[in-house]
Amino acid sequence: MAVADALLSIDEAIALVLSHATMLDPENVQLAEADGRVLAETARSAVDLPPFPSSAMDGFALRAADTPGTLPIVARIAAGRPSPRSLEAGEAMAIGTGGVVPDGADAVVPIELVDEQGDRVVVSDNVVPADNVRRRGGDLRAGDAVVEPGVRLGAARVGALAAAGVTSVRCTRRPRVAVIVTGTELRAPGEPLEPGQIYDSNGFILAAQLRSAGAEVERLPAVADDRAATQAAIERGLEADVLVTTGGVSVGVYDLVRAAEAELGVEEIFWRVAMQPGKPVAFGVRGRTLVFGLPGNPVSSLVGFELFVRPALLALQGLADPWPAFRPGRLGAAAKRLAARDALLRARIRVEGDTLLLNPLTGQQSHMIAHAAAADALVLIPQGEGELAAGSPVSYLSL
Ligand code: AMP
Ligand code: MG
Repeated sequence: MAVADALLSIDEAIALVLSHATMLDPENVQLAEADGRVLAETARSAVDLPPFPSSAMDGFALRAADTPGTLPIVARIAAGRPSPRSLEAGEAMAIGTGGVVPDGADAVVPIELVDEQGDRVVVSDNVVPADNVRRRGGDLRAGDAVVEPGVRLGAARVGALAAAGVTSVRCTRRPRVAVIVTGTELRAPGEPLEPGQIYDSNGFILAAQLRSAGAEVERLPAVADDRAATQAAIERGLEADVLVTTGGVSVGVYDLVRAAEAELGVEEIFWRVAMQPGKPVAFGVRGRTLVFGLPGNPVSSLVGFELFVRPALLALQGLADPWPAFRPGRLGAAAKRLAARDALLRARIRVEGDTLLLNPLTGQQSHMIAHAAAADALVLIPQGEGELAAGSPVSYLSL
């Protein structure tokens, strides 16, 4: 292959995108709204967690040294209130799970292991000190980091922050992303289709992908393949942090997107990547706005998003590792290699024993979104000669 024809590799293109994606500013976010957001600063615990020594079981607080033995039950500790006094040698106090273990007690014996006889409890076993007592600060100390910067908050992390008494967190601003689908042939689902027209699916795919990547999505109206209309739409889209267009980036006479962007001062960083589907993908910048031109075929758009747009969005949010998360697996069936392009096959994941197998689906053409909809993975087939045999190690991206 002549050097002049050499296209960027996928990795080179991702690296270029990431080199232009700088973290957005932080803002305060109330904990109730923080699910899915990425921390910009360490969130620290306001309290020791647990805040007091608490019982892990329903049972009796006592001194391990007093067991085995028969002990008077001198108090019943209600949930949410400390015991009225400390526990003296030879005494037991009834306690529930989460109750405050009284001063003077060093263990809790579960109710199942004792014989409660009115106001006395018979403990036949030897209780070990610290048994069933959750140490104060055993999970976290006041001031400890609960969640580090660069981490996205999911359910458990939001819960940990709540337990730690955190009311608001510093998160990167969510990227505002404008989406423009281009093509005179496009109609919205529900509209009647005239000859030559098709329904827009890219707009819907992208909106879903963008939301899952933490973006605030603004869908602009679809534009026809008309110079002025394309330019006007893109001009508006460039006000966002990220502009994603689909269609109109190939070499046809109706492919107007790149020219319109050039007119509007977008600096093109790359156009075309050695991949299939999605080769004509374009990436540029204007000021701090990142501009992605994804090809119009729905599967090309979907794949281009996962390889280039999602990592950019994660980087804007300050995620620690924004690179696409390729994982290892094995091909479930042979796959042809392309001489000069890496292929991303739509595949289904199947686990057999301890092997994760990736079975390429039928219908790999880039317009076949209905076939692609059955996929749960994109399998990377590196460019080369011949084919990769079934069982070959490959890497894949989860969808
Ligand atoms: P283009 O990249 O504009 O040449 O479009 C390539 C193919 O994708 C054409 O068959 C288009 O009709 C189709 N296409 C473009 N945009 C969309 C869209 N938003 N939804 C579904 N198909 C599209
Ligand atoms: Mg088009």
